[in-house]
Formats: sequence, structure tokens, C-alpha cells
Amino acid sequence: MKTAIVNLGTIVTGDWRDAYASGDAIIMEQGKISWIGASAAATISDYDVLIDAAGATAIPGLIDSHVHITFGDYTPRQKTVGFLESYVHGGVTSAISASEVHVPGRPADPEGVKALAVAAQKCFEQFRPGGMRVHAGSVIIEPGLNEADFKDLAQKGIWLAKAGFGAFATPFEYAPHVKWAKAAGMVTNVHTGGSSIPGSSGIWAKHLLAMNPDVSFHANGGPVAMPDADFGVLVNESSMALQICTAGNLRTALLISKLVQQADQFDRLLIATDTPTGSGIMPLGMLYTITHLVSLGGLPVEWAIAAATGNNARVYRLNSGFIRVGKDADIAIIDACDGGSQTNALDAIRNGDIPAVAAIISDGIPRFVGRSRNTPLAIKKVRVASSRVVQDFSGASH
Ligand SMILES: [Zn+2]
Repeated sequence: MKTAIVNLGTIVTGDWRDAYASGDAIIMEQGKISWIGASAAATISDYDVLIDAAGATAIPGLIDSHVHITFGDYTPRQKTVGFLESYVHGGVTSAISASEVHVPGRPADPEGVKALAVAAQKCFEQFRPGGMRVHAGSVIIEPGLNEADFKDLAQKGIWLAKAGFGAFATPFEYAPHVKWAKAAGMVTNVHTGGSSIPGSSGIWAKHLLAMNPDVSFHANGGPVAMPDADFGVLVNESSMALQICTAGNLRTALLISKLVQQADQFDRLLIATDTPTGSGIMPLGMLYTITHLVSLGGLPVEWAIAAATGNNARVYRLNSGFIRVGKDADIAIIDACDGGSQTNALDAIRNGDIPAVAAIISDGIPRFVGRSRNTPLAIKKVRVASSRVVQDFSGASH
């Protein structure tokens, strides 16, 4: 499939060091971005779908690096069907599993947690709810897993590991397991802050330093934060990525954003939602956290977008997250919402308004064009200008 977007007002790349692309058109072929340049230079006859962006803004499709998936497009935690498809209408084109811990009756023995991760990974290999790519199969680290288990899992395609829900006496006991998971090539993630399981202890900076994972999951608290003094320790005495979650502590999210900028370590800041949880299902969670960091925390808007896209892609080694030739063709077209005081998406975010999602393209395929189910209407009329595909892309059928 060959898809083109023309008449873009702004292209945000997802790379905070080089945040804007020149040109106003993007061409996608076979699921990859193949060209970025001026609309006038693009041949307009040759596409399966041609989208007229009417001056709106393109950003990489958002990557939510903390989603509690299970199987299918269903969350037992909030007893809701279709939540992942709903997140696509909030601009999210990739979800990374925070482990399949919400599967009812989930196993805790070594064979069980291994089987669960492998099954989840395989179940989402071809299944894309609403067009979203789900990176599933994050092994829940439990006592009894040994070095050979992590090697075995890696060989079966598992590349995510999660510490924080296991039946260990203290968080320090995770350290060898995290090391084995890393040695097997996995991206390791550790729950941070107060415990989310009654009776288990909180995980604070000293524990994280002992484990040294790739990512401090919800560093701002999930949902309860560690002591303020611990944030400087994590920023200055480790190199792990610091994930800020919508369903966490907003004050400490702003604190982390400030500390990371002061330390010139912005690559380490990641945005995610940590949903569905007790906080609910949050289809616009990524957009809210971007908006909070910018409007309350003074973060440059293109940096906040990078923390939700390219930074996540780098840490999780994905080929998405950037609007750049050769990257996955995952793009959100956003704009200021109708009826607000701003005239474009980036000014709307600076103003504290969430942007309107006017179109989503993932894997090079338009998923909807014109209007999101979950945001207000965009000011600009983003539309399908021509199509050879028998589908209207309105997304209104649900
Ligand atoms: Zn979580």
C-alpha cells in the first residue's frame, strides 16, 4: 500500500535534537516512510490513498511504553472490551506491555510465567487492535527463574522483562534476575515507588541502583511516589531511563522532567500511561501527560512529543517513533481543537489544551481520517483527497 500526506503545516520528527523536518509532505510505502519533502515535488497520481492535511501537524504515532495488556483487546482490570482500539483514537500506534500481570489467575511459577510471556508475545504478533502494534510478552520476574530460563525465553523471542510483582522478600533479591535478563538481551523494567501489591515493600532509589534496569517504570510513582530526595539520586547516579506515567504523581513527574533537563539527560525521559489500572482506561493519557509537561512544566513542546515517541523507540529498540525515511509508517495528524483559543496543535498544547487527533496512519495504512472518537474536532479539515481503496476511513462504524 502506498499512502501520501500533503499540505502539512508542521512535521515534528520525534527527535528532540532535530525536532522539525522541512517539507510539507510524507510518502509511505509497504509500511515504511519512503520520502519527506515538498508537496509540489510529490507526484500526486500514484497513491492508494492521498490525505490532504489542510495545514495540520504531523507527529510520529505515540508509543505508550506502559500498557497493561492481557489477551485480545480486553482488560480484565477494568472489564472493558476495545480499549486498545480506543487508544489509537488518542494518537497511540504502539503499546509496550508492562507484563501480562492482569491475566486472571496468572501463574507465578517459573514455567507458568514463561509460558504466559511466550503466549502473549505470539498472540499479538499478527493481531493489531485498531491498527495498533502491541509489543507483548513481558516476563514477570518471580523467584525460581534462573539464568537458563532467561536465555530460553530470549531464544523464543521474549525481549521484555518486568520486576516488581514477584514474591521476593525484598526488592534487592531481584538484582541477579535483572542481570540475567539484561545479559539475555532483554529490556528490563522495574516498578518504582510505593507497592502496588498489598504487603509488598516499596521500591526506591537504593533498590533501583542495586538492580540497575534499563527503565525505571513510572519513576514518578505508580501511583505512589518514592521520597523527593531519591529523584536526584536516580537522575545523577544511574543511567536508566525514567518513565513518567499519566496514572502517577503529577508533581514528581514535573520534578523528574526538570531534573533530567538540568542534567542534560533528556534521552532518558519517557512518557507512558500505566493504564489500564485502578486509574482506569485513558485513551488520551499520552496527550494529557505531554500537555502537562509542556503547559505546567515548561518543557518545549517538541521535546515532550519526543519523550512520547522517539525516546521510547530508542530505549525499546523499535523502528517506529520517528518521522524519518526508513522508519515505520506510524503517524498521527493533530491540530488545535475546534472552539478553543489556539490555531495549531503545538500552541494548543502550550496553552494546556489537548490537541485534536485528526488522522492516524499505522503500518502505512490510514486507520481513520477526519475525526477521532475521543478528542474534539480539529479546526482544520483533514480529509482523504483521493483513494483507490474501498473504505471511507471515517472510523465512525463503532
Ligand atoms: Zn503498571
